Amino acid sequence: MLLTGTGRLAPAGVSPWALQMRDGRIAWVGPASQAPDDDERVELGSALVTPGLVDSHTHPVFAGDRSDEAAARLEGAPYTGGGILRTVAATRAADDATLEKLVEARLRAALAAGTTTVECKSGYGLSLDEELRHLRLIVRVAERLPLRVYTTFLGAHAIPDGATLNEYAAHVADVMVPAVAAEGLALFVDVFADAGFFDLGATERIGRAARQAGFGLRIHADQLALTGAAELGCRLGAASVDHLEQLDPAGIAVIAASETVATLLPAPAIVLRDRLPPARALLDAGATVALASDANAGTYSGFGTMPLVIGLGATTLGMTAGEALTAATAGGALAVRRPDLGTLRVGAAADLVAWDAEHEGAFALRLGAVRPVRTWIAGVEIRP
Ligand SMILES: [Zn+2]
Repeated sequence: MLLTGTGRLAPAGVSPWALQMRDGRIAWVGPASQAPDDDERVELGSALVTPGLVDSHTHPVFAGDRSDEAAARLEGAPYTGGGILRTVAATRAADDATLEKLVEARLRAALAAGTTTVECKSGYGLSLDEELRHLRLIVRVAERLPLRVYTTFLGAHAIPDGATLNEYAAHVADVMVPAVAAEGLALFVDVFADAGFFDLGATERIGRAARQAGFGLRIHADQLALTGAAELGCRLGAASVDHLEQLDPAGIAVIAASETVATLLPAPAIVLRDRLPPARALLDAGATVALASDANAGTYSGFGTMPLVIGLGATTLGMTAGEALTAATAGGALAVRRPDLGTLRVGAAADLVAWDAEHEGAFALRLGAVRPVRTWIAGVEIRP
């Protein structure tokens, strides 16, 4: 199939353009005047066309509602992360059918808003049985959807009631990580390494167990306090260190010198009225930056809002519109270790979105109100 347009193919830039998809991949891309012959043609006019968006940080498996906490924080209550245990209680009480419906609705919202690849974490179970239940549920929902789903085991999201940090970290490393590996339920392991959660020792223990079991590693790092978790993540070869609101120049230099992606999450930082992560300094230092939603139960609950996240990257983090779009496509793809996604080069996956916009500047100008008009995943058009 040959797609053609007279508008903007971002970030490549040629126009009028043509792009040929074959066997789920991009077979040819370039000026329309040189396009190869193809029996099937789709004309996209002046629409902005981009790679499908990659949301490389979400927590979709939960029940319950914590909007009252958001309101209380705005009246001055501190964010302690204690609300995670409230979500854990509500989620444990929800049966499979209820949870599955919630997860499916959240992922369908993402797809309808132009996300074609999504990373999904467990982490509101905090026991072996519950974490396995949540991961199996993500896998089941993913089988019904055309989205590309990457699953992450986040048993180390908080310390459950009745356990100490060291007891629980040992349980995650020695029992839970091998059990998730044995069932092949996840590609990545994540740790919430922050003040009041998993300290550097516990994070390293879980991280090493994860790497040894063959998982990629991701770390929630330096969100609430500067702990050195991002630097530890780089040392452990993490695919991504996420949040980074409190990151300092030394941490920026370590990330920039590593293969680890800096995943920035402007939406929860704004909801929490927190410091914003140092996006400009990371980009200027040469780090690979991803933008993701962090859609979750308690600090930002907007599923299907990646167009807004791109707009926030541009308007609040000092990124250009092009940098923000790249961070939400190619950057996110690198954060899930899939360099063949989120890009429009020949050989890449044919995941594309045509938008109701003419330029990526619309993501900043319309803050969340940019919508897909047509979406393809692996060369197949999706009707969300
Ligand atoms: Zn998160």
